Amino acid sequence: MTMLNRRDWGARAPRGAYTTLTRTRGVKVHYTGDHVDPGLVNDHARCVAVIKGIQNYHMDNNGWIDIGYSMMVCPHRTVFQGRGPGHLPAANGAGLNSDHYAVLGLVGTSGLTRPPNDMLLGVLDAIDYLREHGGAGQEIKGHRDGYSTDCPGEPLYAWVRAGAPRPPSGTR
Ligand SMILES: [Zn+2]
Ligand SMILES: [Zn+2]
Repeated sequence: MTMLNRRDWGARAPRGAYTTLTRTRGVKVHYTGDHVDPGLVNDHARCVAVIKGIQNYHMDNNGWIDIGYSMMVCPHRTVFQGRGPGHLPAANGAGLNSDHYAVLGLVGTSGLTRPPNDMLLGVLDAIDYLREHGGAGQEIKGHRDGYSTDCPGEPLYAWVRAGAPRPPSGTR
């Protein structure tokens, strides 16, 4: 696992103070809800650009203080720090953020839709990190649980529903 802190990936500073979150019931898993260029599987620099674009969209279009996710995961088992542990996310839907941290898997509605095994391992790394550093509980759910959305898409949601099993490493 590679962990990128905000300075590492060139995150913009949040526009305001985070709301503190000391413990949650668990984590909700998300996808981008958009096209994801499958070429990024062979070019990690593109992953960084996509994550920066999502932060820009959340701050400039949604008017949020920061990217909405707690952590983000690309196909290279790289975990990006978003709002991070101990901070209220904004991605789960109004009223649903204090119960679960929000972790993004970098797949979408077209292009890259199926999470490679290394991405699933990265999501599990992010969940372990949020449990250790942010009091995340045992639940692993999808954005669509309790909120009307297709997120996190069928392939990622099927994995969540199966109990988020740990895939073999080093395979795609
Ligand atoms: Zn979502
Ligand atoms: Zn990557």
